[in-house]
Parts: sequence; C-alpha cells; structure tokens
Amino acid sequence: MPIAGLAFLVAEDHETQRSILVRILKDLGAKHIHEASDGHGALSVIADPTRSVDIVISDLDMPGMDGMQFIRELGKVGARISIILASALERKLLGSVALMTEAYGIRLLGVIEKPLTPDKLMPLIVLHQPAQAQPDRLTSPRFTLQEIVAGLHNDEFEPFLQPKIALATGQVKGAEALARWRNPRHGIVAPYAFIKPLEDNGLIDELTWVMLRKAAALCSGWRAAGMDMTVSVNLSLKSLGDLHLADLVTEQVRSQNLEPRHIILEVTESAATIDIGETLENLARLRMKGFGLSIDDYGTGYSSMQQLMRIAFTELKIDQSFVMNAAKESSGRIILESSLDMAHKLNITSVAEGVETQADWDLLRRLGCDVAQGYFIARPMGHAAYHEWVLNWNRLASLS
Ligand code: C2E
Ligand code: CA
Ligand code: CA
Repeated sequence: MPIAGLAFLVAEDHETQRSILVRILKDLGAKHIHEASDGHGALSVIADPTRSVDIVISDLDMPGMDGMQFIRELGKVGARISIILASALERKLLGSVALMTEAYGIRLLGVIEKPLTPDKLMPLIVLHQPAQAQPDRLTSPRFTLQEIVAGLHNDEFEPFLQPKIALATGQVKGAEALARWRNPRHGIVAPYAFIKPLEDNGLIDELTWVMLRKAAALCSGWRAAGMDMTVSVNLSLKSLGDLHLADLVTEQVRSQNLEPRHIILEVTESAATIDIGETLENLARLRMKGFGLSIDDYGTGYSSMQQLMRIAFTELKIDQSFVMNAAKESSGRIILESSLDMAHKLNITSVAEGVETQADWDLLRRLGCDVAQGYFIARPMGHAAYHEWVLNWNRLASLS
C-alpha cells in the first residue's frame, strides 16, 4: 500500500523529536499524520471515530501513560493497528518489550533505536498489511441477534474448510471447519460478525451443533471415499460449562458413522470467566471418548488455559501472530520456538496457523513443527472446492 494511503499516529512527548518524526514521515510521502504527547492522548485519537489510524509510532518512555501501558490499553481496545516502537533504551530491553507487545495481541512492525531516520522507518512501514488483508470489522455489515438467529433457523450457516498439511511429508492431515454464513443479501459472511453476539447471548451452542453435524458429515464422506482425513471443529469455552456436552457431541459424531478420533475439537484460550470444574470434566470426558483436543491460539495467554493444560490435549495450535513473519522477526520467533519445544516435550502435535509465505513454511519445517495451516497452502473454501483441492494436491504430490 502506498504510504500516502496510510494514517499515522506519532506518540512522543519530546516536542522537537515529534516534529522531526512528522517531517520524516511527510518526506516519505505520508499525508495523514496525527500527533499525541503521551499514551492518553494517543488513546483518545484511536477512540475518535472520525480519525483512522493504521500505524502508531510510539516512544516507550513518556510521562503520564508510558509506551508500555499504552500498548496494554491498545490490546484491550482490540484495535487492528500496527505499531513501531522507538526508544533510546538498550537493545536487550527492547527485545522484552517486543515480546510483551505481541503477547498483548498488538501487531509489532519493529523496534528502532533512536534517533529515527527514514532508512530505519521505511522497511518497517512496508511490513504493515492493509486492512483488506484482514477482515474489515468496521465497514462490514453489522447484524442484529435476531437476524443471526433467523439465519441459523434458515440453515444458512456452513463450514468452510482450510487444509492442514504435515510439514515432513506434505500429506493432507485434515481440515479445520470455519463457520461461514451464506447470507442471502450480503453473500459469504465471516465469523467475527456472528460469533461474539452468539456467545454473549448464550446462543453459541446453536452454531456449534450445526458446525459439528455438517463437519462430521463431510468428514464421513471423505473417509468413505478413501481419504484419510480428520476435521477440526471450533468449540467455544462457553459451551464447555454444560455437562451434557460430551455425550451429545459423541452421539452426534457416531450418528454420522464417524469415530471420535476423526474429530479434533479446538478450544480457544479466552478471557471469559468459565466454570473451571465443569470445563475440566467435559474436556476429560471428551478425551476419554477419543476426540482430539487442540489448544487454539496458543501463546495469546490467559491463565484459564494453564489450568486446562492439565487435561491431556493432543494438539497445540500456535497462534498466527507468532507464526506470521517469524522468519523475519526475532521476537515472534522466540515464542514460536518455545511453543514447538513445549509441544515436543509434551509429545503432542504442533500446528502452526497463519503460514503465509514460503519463508514461514521453510522455517517451520526446519524447527520441526508437525503441521502447517495458512494462506500459503490454501484459504478456507467451500466443501466442494475443498474436495477438488485435496484431489489436486494429492495428484501433484504423487508426481513429485
Ligand atoms: P481461528 O480458530 O483462530 O481460525 C483461524 C482464522 O485465521 C480463520 O479466520 C482463518 O480464515 C484465518 N487464517 C487462516 N490462515 C491464515 C493466514 O495464513 N493468514 C491470515 N491472516 N489468516 C489466516 P476466520 O475463518 O475468519 O475465523 C475467525 C475465528 O472465528 C476463528 O479463529 C475462530 O476462533 C472463530 N470461529 C470460526 N468458526 C467457528 C465456529 O464454528 N465456532 C466457534 N465457536 N468459533 C468459530
Ligand atoms: Ca481454530
Ligand atoms: Ca487461531
């Protein structure tokens, strides 16, 4: 994306340094630049609906709210913003701040030592991914709960499938089923438009059942056609409070002539307060029945997951924020490597999601990751397209 199309926010308490930075950005071609002298000011720019921000360039050491607190607050807001950190601090400290930033879910483009120069800034700015590459939450249609529920009752929801590939052999291990709403007016709608409203209103189970039933039916079909593949279904932590869940899930899967071991249930770390006893009981029972259990988004860090770790999970799915660009950035790489190491020690399958480039793929292979998933391999697709895709992939694999 040309730099003129990006909106910057410069957070720097030192007035002269701030104006130097603004001038550098202008010289580089930036047209939209906001300024703030501390974290509070920066947050209010971000909260202002009339001003958009793509990249924040923030000083770490500011009076009032410093850069670190600012990053934490930014993480809470959940804004899809990239950040470049600038500081006169020593390199080693900058490394830990980089780790912290990613742990708060903020996309860190890089850390630069002061003084800032165009040569240091430009390579980081080009790392920013334009908003279209990510689902755009702001401009997409918003739906009322009633519309979503009506869509569920009209059977408008279906799984899209994204392949999971064994890195060592290139074999298709299975697919993750990702919910899509085939909306009569808006076309294919992505999950962020309906998961949270359903969860917040205690209705997520309705979607879970649809996804489980349809994903199991598809997987049963693949297996009948001689394709040895599993299907992964996302399970909201909220559903795990219901003690009937394990039996209901098992019945659902068996009624499709499928074994529980062909299904992997992906459970996301979440900040939600959960009934820990019930959740542990459900997970233990699901595992006992033979389902695969995956820790989704691993590394994004909530303490509830630490307790759940006591259950025998079979798969560790490393969050895409640690996978994307791991080949380029050392900070993401540390978490990636330690996650792989842990999965290895626990003797469970490691899966990297968000594999977007050949470099990501090569690095993961080198680091001994088991399974890869991401746009580099394929985007999520409808079931017919997925079937075709697998046949084609296997054909190519048999040629090479
Ligand atoms: P997730 O489980 O972490 O799924 C991975 C998300 O990353 C998917 O987004 C997928 O399309 C996207 N993705 C895959 N490869 C790449 C890549 O290389 N680069 C990038 N940038 N993204 C990639 P999607 O389909 O929009 O789903 C978003 C989230 O919605 C999922 O995150 C999951 O937490 C939730 N979700 C989806 N389906 C269901 C469902 O049936 N039930 C529940 N409870 N949650 C679901
Ligand atoms: Ca998932
Ligand atoms: Ca994930």
